[in-house]
This record gives sequence, C-alpha cells and structure tokens, in this order.
Amino acid sequence: MPQNSARTAGRHFLQIPGPTPVPDRILRAMDMPVIDHRGPDFGRLGRRVLDGIKTIFKTAGPVVIYPSSGTGAWEAALVNTLSPGDRVLMVETGHFATLWKSMAVKLGLQPEFIATDWRAGADPGAIEARLREDKGRDIKAVCVVHNETSTGCVTLVGEVRRAIDRASHPALLMADTISSLGSIDYRHDEWGVDVTVGGSQKGLMLPPGLSFNAVGDKAMNASRSAKLPKSFWGWDEMIASNKTGFFPYTPATNMLYALAEAIDMLHEEGLDNVFARHDRHAEATRRAVRAWGLEILCREPKHYSSSLTAVTMPPGHDADALRKTALAHFDISLGTGLSKLAGKVFRIGHLGDTNDLTILGALAGVEMGLKLAGVPHKSGGVQAAMDYLTAQAAGPARKAAE
Ligand SMILES: *Cc1c(COP(=O)(O)O)cnc(C)c1O
Repeated sequence: MPQNSARTAGRHFLQIPGPTPVPDRILRAMDMPVIDHRGPDFGRLGRRVLDGIKTIFKTAGPVVIYPSSGTGAWEAALVNTLSPGDRVLMVETGHFATLWKSMAVKLGLQPEFIATDWRAGADPGAIEARLREDKGRDIKAVCVVHNETSTGCVTLVGEVRRAIDRASHPALLMADTISSLGSIDYRHDEWGVDVTVGGSQKGLMLPPGLSFNAVGDKAMNASRSAKLPKSFWGWDEMIASNKTGFFPYTPATNMLYALAEAIDMLHEEGLDNVFARHDRHAEATRRAVRAWGLEILCREPKHYSSSLTAVTMPPGHDADALRKTALAHFDISLGTGLSKLAGKVFRIGHLGDTNDLTILGALAGVEMGLKLAGVPHKSGGVQAAMDYLTAQAAGPARKAAE
C-alpha cells in the first residue's frame, strides 16, 4: 500500500510470481475454529488432503506435507535420501537453483553445478553427458527446478528423466515444482521423478506456510540407508502417522482446510483447463512485452514459463525504479530481479487465481508504469494482449451466460 495514503480502494494487484492472491473461497474455508489434531474430525480432514494432494502431483505414492516454506521441503528432499559427501548434479538455471545448491553444500553434500546463462531451462543433453562420464556412479541425485522463478524458464523434467535413462545411470531425480504445481502440467509418476518438492503460496493459491515432498518408491528405498542427520524432516514418522490421516506433530490445521478447498477448486475447473488458462495468460503477457519493444529474458520458446514472464529493461534503466513507480501510482506489486538480475529485469506473475481481466489490469499497470517512469517503450502492449485474448475467447463461452 502506498505509504502516503490512508486507504487505497480496490484490490491490490499482487502480480509477483508468488505468493499469489488467495481467492475469497479459500480465505473463507480457513476461517474455522482450530480443532483437536488428535480427534476424529481431524482424521477426516487429514485423509482428504493427503489423498487429494496426490492428484495434483499426479502420483499414487505418498506426499508428505510440512508446516514450512518451500525451502524446508528442499531440505527434506536432500536429507531423507542422501549421505554426507554424496555427489549431486544440479543445473544453475537461476537464483532458486543456486540457493538449492548452496543448501546442498551446507548439508555436507558435494554438488556439481552445470552453468547456464540464466536464459533457458536445464539442457538434458548436458546432464546425459555428465552422467555418462560418471563411470563410478558417484552421482547420487540429479536436482532440477521445474519452473525457475527468477528467470521465467522451464526445465522439461520428462526429458531430464529420459536423459538419465539413456545414460543408464541410477541417480535419483528430484524436481522443485514450487512455482509450477497447479500452474504448469506436471506428472510425478509418469515422468519417473523420485522426489518432487512443492510449496503452498504460488500455483496452489494458498497463503505461505505449507510445503510438500512427493516420494517415489526408489526415493523411499534410498531413505532407508541415507545417513544425513534429520529429525523434524524425517519421512518415516510422517508417512507412518499419515496412514491414518494424522501427523506426528501439530499440523497447520487451518492451512489444511485451505489446501482441501484449493484442491477442490483446481478439480472443479479441471487441471487441463487450469494449465491452458496459464498458457493463455503467459502468451498474452509475452505479446504485450514484444509490443512494448522490450525483451523476454527466456530465450528458448520451448522453455517459456506459464507462471511468470521476466522482462529485460533497456540498458541504463532500473527495473526497481519502474516497480516503485508502478506500486506508488497503481498499487501493483511486480517481481524484482533476483541476485545477478537485480535492477536488470522485472517479473510479471500470471499464476494462481488469475482471469483475463486480472492479467489485462496488470499489463495496464506495467504499461502506465513504463510511461511514468520514463522507460523507452512503444505503447500498445495492452492492446496486443487484448487482441490475443479476444481471439482466444471466440467460440463457445467458457462460462454460461445464464
Ligand atoms: C519460491 C520458490 C522457492 C522458495 O520457497 P519459499 O517458500 O520461499 O521457501 C524455491 N524454489 C522455487 C522455484 C520458488 O519459486
């Protein structure tokens, strides 16, 4: 909220790539008295979310739910499956991949980092080549970020699986879907992922505070001999307790009401429709960016993110000055450039509970912000997005008129 005004009318436009706006329906669902987490009502809620969340990860196996931010689930994935000194192959797709790698170092693992220019997803060919060289099978896991939230580039996780299989390498595959789950198609079982990491506050439309590990059989087997120290994050007690719908320690009860509602909402819309909606808003955004004459940071169209678009500023112009102007005048929050992209890019989030008019409002905020902040650009970005969304809307209405 602009600090110089007592009240700003209307909804704030939270257009960062997470946390995302929480739908009213979810806010109402969590507005409940806290219940006994060892009582029968809780068991029903527990079963509902523990079963329901599997359909979002597309897995038949267990999904562990932690009361933590996504960073906790990163740690859980590593400490449950690996031992001190284990080699881990990671790809430097951006800021989040770099943080996960730094965590691996702090935990006593030996990550190897395949460098990139932060403008594309991971290259399955490079992963395959490194695994083929690893004759001693010293690499115990390959970790990738499905949607790199700092750059707006997607890694094709199914192709990474095929690369590992072509190299006939036994390494585990772990994927971070914190900013893609519920926004971009993801298939834990079909793609043969061993551990998938998720978080609540992005595509799932929930407040921050829950994180997830979807655990495959191979990862579960690895967890039986993994030697990294763990207690709070241990899968064993969680999964044992979850079998009856309960948790070994106090769960975030009201967040679980919210999660149950979010899962229902995603299925009411239909996951494929949810993904198509994200694709449409991403394409509308890219058309606006091109019409402004600005550059999309992701240079590989096949890696374009449907969760967010990172936009490169013209040389000599500061992305944070633009963000500040847009916030002060139009009450819109845009994502900042992270680490080496600071000042150079801003990010438009188009994930979560977004409709055509939300994204057009957001793009209008950016276009007016560019003008007010004196950033050289062409007008007509919003028009280009409108033209695209109008053409997409031709045909049967998505919602009946009566
Ligand atoms: C947001 C995010 C994280 C970090 O999650 P926190 O909830 O902030 O701990 C990690 N990875 C990706 C890809 C993210 O988008």
